[in-house]
Amino acid sequence: MALSLARRGIAATVIEKRTGFGELGAGLQIGPNAGRVLDGLDLTLPLKRVGVSSQGLTIRRWADGRELLAMPTDPAALAIPYRLLKRSDLHMVLLDAARAMPNIRLVVGRGVETMAQDGEGVSTTLTGQNGQGESLHGLGLIGADGLWSRVRDLCGDTAPPVFTGYEAWRALAPGTKAGSTGERPGVTLHLGPGRHAVHYPVAGGRETNLVIVRRAREAREGWSRDGEANMLASHIAGASKPLRELAEAASGWQVWSLFDRKPAAMARGRVALLGDAAHPVLPFLAQGASLAIEDAAVLARLLAQALEADGAGGVPSALAAYAAARAARVARVQDASRGNGRVFHLGWPLSLGRDIALARLGARGMRDRYDWLYEWRDG
Ligand SMILES: Cc1cc2nc3c(=O)[nH]c(=O)nc-3n(C[C@H](O)[C@H](O)[C@H](O)COP(=O)(O)OP(=O)(O)OC[C@H]3O[C@@H](n4cnc5c(N)ncnc54)[C@H](O)[C@@H]3O)c2cc1C
Repeated sequence: MALSLARRGIAATVIEKRTGFGELGAGLQIGPNAGRVLDGLDLTLPLKRVGVSSQGLTIRRWADGRELLAMPTDPAALAIPYRLLKRSDLHMVLLDAARAMPNIRLVVGRGVETMAQDGEGVSTTLTGQNGQGESLHGLGLIGADGLWSRVRDLCGDTAPPVFTGYEAWRALAPGTKAGSTGERPGVTLHLGPGRHAVHYPVAGGRETNLVIVRRAREAREGWSRDGEANMLASHIAGASKPLRELAEAASGWQVWSLFDRKPAAMARGRVALLGDAAHPVLPFLAQGASLAIEDAAVLARLLAQALEADGAGGVPSALAAYAAARAARVARVQDASRGNGRVFHLGWPLSLGRDIALARLGARGMRDRYDWLYEWRDG
């Protein structure tokens, strides 16, 4: 968000509560819809250095690995690649670009605690882990602070996220082991009753990101590192041999409970919400981060236009226009992701119908199905 603003000449302060990167073992698929925004910020080359351009999608059956659908893609034929990245690599690329902008200030290790807005702007107080505070004032505040958003709470929307009954196990495997699954460098999905797995190469192909999603009784907040190997073994006991081998080669398992939450009002006066803070997306469409990047592009454009036309007084109407512009899109993506979750996890005999439908859909049908998602352009 800050980069999109700064490139338009609007100074921004980024406030990040943490002092380092968490979720080291996590990967991100970044679709062309968000890739277009990142390319527009001149990040094509640094992303190429750390990412992998997906060569397609393969869907397999959990138990025996039988191929249900193969959608090969030639990245050279795509204007914008479907990128596969380590989350920390994307963070580094964005951070380097932000550091190079003189009109971006980074405040790290302090989180938003309170806020108050009036006709002139928004004041906020920050608190650090060792108690050090700071007050800031600006024309507006954009809450991009994730699923458990403090800013959303401060806006009065305190209904908590709802546990879905699923958890995601994430880890990285060395690249050579991933090769044993015999896939082209792309995204592979394995669908099973009440569970699925997804893996894809990251870090220039040197590692494979593996995520296993399964039913769970209890929710845990945030990332937990106690993804014990013996528990994992039982989760993948019935999986195909290549998937089991990949899981056995992976290390650094982290577990994340999956929560859902209704979309928030994305603008209140001079305060806007963006990304998971506004509309968390279940990871069954791999679009949560991409949607946050789209949000940022739209909000920055509308803010720049309003500031140019009406000065500081234009901020609330720009934020309201942003909320109106994004409402239908984010609701559609959230719904599509929930729908995928239901279909991915079907048990027998409904899974049989799904498998037949996937075979009939084929590569062409699958591509057409998601045109609306990946062809998105701002403005
Ligand atoms: C298993 C799994 C797989 C996924 N795979 C994909 C994928 O392939 N592609 C994709 O697009 N999405 C994916 N997602 C979704 C994606 O991770 C999220 O949608 C995305 O991270 C949301 O970004 P965000 O910036 O809105 O929030 P976050 O990434 O949660 O970032 C919020 C930031 O705000 C900070 N913060 C919190 N509170 C405060 C405060 N009070 N003050 C200051 N800072 C604060 C946090 O420390 C954090 O750095 C996946 C999610 C999961 C769980």
